[in-house]
Amino acid sequence: MTDTLRRAFLAVTPKPADRVDLDPDESHHVARVLRLKTGDALAVFDGKGGEWEATIEVPSRDRVTVVVGGVRAGHVEPELRVVVFQALTRPEKLEWVLQKGTEIGVSAFRLVGSERVEAPPPSPSRLSRYERIVMEACKQCGRRVLPALTLGSLAPPDGGVLAIILAHGAGVAPLGSVLAGPKAAEVWLAVGPEGGFSDDEIEAAVASGWRRASLGPRVLRTETAGAIAAAIVLHAWGDLGPPL
Ligand code: SAH
Repeated sequence: MTDTLRRAFLAVTPKPADRVDLDPDESHHVARVLRLKTGDALAVFDGKGGEWEATIEVPSRDRVTVVVGGVRAGHVEPELRVVVFQALTRPEKLEWVLQKGTEIGVSAFRLVGSERVEAPPPSPSRLSRYERIVMEACKQCGRRVLPALTLGSLAPPDGGVLAIILAHGAGVAPLGSVLAGPKAAEVWLAVGPEGGFSDDEIEAAVASGWRRASLGPRVLRTETAGAIAAAIVLHAWGDLGPPL
């Protein structure tokens, strides 16, 4: 399906025929970057799965009002939930992880501390910038559900979850062989920082139910590993591969 309608994010869930103001950033984008005008059509999505036709009513420099029309059909969310537990690292690397992971189909991101992390936890303003990057990626790639972004830790996996801690090295099973086993409904992928997870961290995770897996003999950068692993998992068990 090709869809040429421009998309804008609405921070509220509208009802058809509602008149809604876009937030200032979205207004700027629609009026100044896309240069849409009164009467132009666009699609609006609420980040919770809803998307509607809409028409611009009042464009101004910093305020755009839209009139909401009918619900738009369509579905691009993967059935398989992939959650990336990304060790904290420099903002520009995290931004890359969030943007590419969202496009690939990651359902949630948890930013985790670890022994060898030099980066401090993100400030509230940095976290909102990260959320905006996730939203922009959704807008661009057609996703309607914003992946959740939270701070967390390598918690013991919930039942039904296949939790994988990515680690290279001799004797570590390749990710492909772990995915040759029974399919899980949700996959967690933990990616270490530049310096890698410590042996103690890996052992503690394995003791709590995580499984080690390797992405091959080459050492990937922290911002590469999660995107690659998510793509492999969604290819094997999700909607990036041929129909099962
Ligand atoms: N200097 C570190 C490299 C860390 S790379 C070391 O030698 O351990 C950052 C993270 O990316 C790792 O902690 C791991 O989670 C992941 N990663 C990188 N390359 C990988 C590979 N070939 N297989 C599995 N995980 C990998």
